[in-house]
Amino acid sequence: MRTELERLRVDGARLRRSLEAMAEIGATSAGGVQRLAASDEDRRARDLLVFWLDELGAQVTVDEMGNVFGRRAGRDDALDPVLTGSHLDSQPRGGRFDGVLGVMGSLEVLRTLRDHGVETERPVELVDWTNEEGSRFPPAMMASGVWAGALTRDWAYARTDVAGLAFGDELARIGYRGPARCERRPFHAYYELHVEQGPRLERERRTIGAPRGIVCLHWYDVYVEGTANQVGTTPMEGRADALVAAAEMILAVRAMPARMGGGLVATVGEIHAQPNSRNVVPGGAHFTVDIRSWDDGLARRGWEDLREEFGAAAERHGCGLRLEETWRVDHNEFAPELVARVRDTAARLGYSTLDLESGAGHDASYMATLGPTAMVFVPSIGGRSHVEVERTSWEDCEAGANVLLQCVLASAEG
Ligand SMILES: [Zn+2]
Repeated sequence: MRTELERLRVDGARLRRSLEAMAEIGATSAGGVQRLAASDEDRRARDLLVFWLDELGAQVTVDEMGNVFGRRAGRDDALDPVLTGSHLDSQPRGGRFDGVLGVMGSLEVLRTLRDHGVETERPVELVDWTNEEGSRFPPAMMASGVWAGALTRDWAYARTDVAGLAFGDELARIGYRGPARCERRPFHAYYELHVEQGPRLERERRTIGAPRGIVCLHWYDVYVEGTANQVGTTPMEGRADALVAAAEMILAVRAMPARMGGGLVATVGEIHAQPNSRNVVPGGAHFTVDIRSWDDGLARRGWEDLREEFGAAAERHGCGLRLEETWRVDHNEFAPELVARVRDTAARLGYSTLDLESGAGHDASYMATLGPTAMVFVPSIGGRSHVEVERTSWEDCEAGANVLLQCVLASAEG
């Protein structure tokens, strides 16, 4: 029996068809998808998922944050379930694999179990987490955050998009503000199949990544205060140009990781100049800093270095400086025994593997704080993600789903 289960494989062609059907919902002209959380496209994607889950005979539950669960009963249905899933929402003009692969891969796992009449000891539950991207309604990973108890439901409901529409209203409008309470319940294991969203697997020609966890994420906001003035009449000497000071600070951010080492990355992704006019010396600049590393201490030391450099740059340009420590999430380790299972399962199936970390946040971040969690990564072609050209080969999608299937099976019997 055991070996029979170990020989089970997903139907790669069917997985591809599911992914292609999902990619039609919110398809963009350049081959991506735009399926923002609680939009009409999100509703259509959910409707299709629920249709497929119903077809499978799974017990479908929608909770008050719109998380969709599709449960396949176990022989002992009172046991804690094995959860497997990801998200169906996308970035604006995003890709057709990020998130969707994990949900369609989980669906393919359930379908494979059904096809072969496999009964598992524990229940197996697919989950589609609402608003993982956080691009329409910040923050990211919002609904898994509420489920985990890290965020509150009503706070989440009150988040608004750029048009001023509230998340809770929009979720109700698309018909997915469900009746079930959104709160954590015990689970035996959580698996999330996902595209790597980086270049490492492709570069090292490996098929399956077994991330040991998710790097820390430290966010800062930097406000530089200069003196606005007429550009034609103000001499160059003595200017307090906030944008020039900010430019030097940004270069300091770019230079810091090489000095710190340890795979630390640091990015300025957003900047605003005041008054942002071509004929006014900038009187103010605000930019963001994002620092990520497996080593929380290293990330903190990197920031301390930057604080000093920022202070010196502000002084050189006669500017004031205000620093805000906006958000810090420390690195998150997955369950070592599940990570080993992902790696060993992939090897047993004949796939090359790579140990790495996730540089991106995932719903698995919150899940890892609650119970045994692991992810399965597959290569992103060209390392590109959150963009319309995001691609993963069909073979790699199938490989990832096979690893997911075998990991879910092992946990569901354990
Ligand atoms: Zn994702």
